[in-house]
Amino acid sequence: VTSLVPKLLSVPGFAQAKRDGLPLIERIDRMSMPEPNSGCWIWLGTGTRTGHGAIRLGRKMVGAHRASWLAHRGSVPNGLHVLHSCDVPCCVNPDHLHLGTAKQNSEEVAARNRRRSGAWRSTSSVAMSNAVDRRAMSPQQRIESLSVPIPECGCWIFLGALRLGYGRLKNHKTGRHESTHRLSWQAYRGAIPNGAMVLHTCDTPSCVNPDHLFLGTQSDNMADRQRKGRNPDVRGENHPGAKLKASQVLEIRASARPRRELAELYAVSKELITAIRNRRVWRHI
Ligand SMILES: [Zn+2]
Ligand SMILES: [Zn+2]
Repeated sequence: VTSLVPKLLSVPGFAQAKRDGLPLIERIDRMSMPEPNSGCWIWLGTGTRTGHGAIRLGRKMVGAHRASWLAHRGSVPNGLHVLHSCDVPCCVNPDHLHLGTAKQNSEEVAARNRRRSGAWRSTSSVAMSNAVDRRAMSPQQRIESLSVPIPECGCWIFLGALRLGYGRLKNHKTGRHESTHRLSWQAYRGAIPNGAMVLHTCDTPSCVNPDHLFLGTQSDNMADRQRKGRNPDVRGENHPGAKLKASQVLEIRASARPRRELAELYAVSKELITAIRNRRVWRHI
C-alpha cells in the first residue's frame, strides 16, 4: 500500500486516480463482497474475459486478485504469479491467494479440472475465448459457459464484465444489453412480466443461478433490501475478512513499537499496521 498509493496519486491529470485516491486495501474492500459459505470475496467491479476482476492502478489495469495480494501481502517477485486456492477467478480474499510459477498454475488448473470435472464447468480460456461461438448456443448454454458455480453456496458467479456488481450481456433477441440475472431468468423460466423485477434470494448481484432468482415488484425489492440489510455495516470486525478486533486496533494505535514488531505480534502485514496508524483503515474507531 505504502508504495502504490503515492505512485497512483502522482499520475498527473488522472481523474480516476484522484477519484480512487483511497488506499488500495480500502478500494478492494469496497469493491468486493464476502460470500459467507466459501469465504470468497467476490469482486464487484469490472472483470476480464477470464473472469478475473480488474482494477486500475495508476495507468495500468491489473488483476484484482493481484492487487489484493499487493495490498495485503506485499510485492510479487519477478516471474511469480498470484494464484487462487479456491478456484474462483473473481475472488480477492488474500487468504485464498498464493504465489506460484506459471507452470504451477497450469498444473493446478489441470488438477482442479480432473478433481472437479463433475461439479465444475470449464472456466478456462477455452470457455471464454472468441473461438467459442456463443450465438450458436442456447440461452442456457450461454449462461452456463459464462459462469462458475461455487459449491459451498450454489451461486453461479458470472465471469464477464460487471457493472455495479451485476453482469451485463447482450440479449440476442432484442440486441440490447441486459443484466445477466434477468437473462438467466428468461433462459430458464421464461418471459419477465411487465413491471416485474428479477431479485436474488442469495443477495449476490453477479449470481445467475436461476434457483436463486425470484420475481418481485419494485416495492418487494425495497422491502427485500431492507430485510436483508443490504449494505449492512461490515466495517471493522463485523467484516468477515477482518483480521483484528477493535480493541487490538486501538492497542496498535496506542503503541510506539516498530511496525515490524506489531505486525509479528498481531500476525498481520506491516502495510496493514501503517494503514491502521494512518487511519486509512478502521477509520470509524
Ligand atoms: Zn476465494
Ligand atoms: Zn446465488
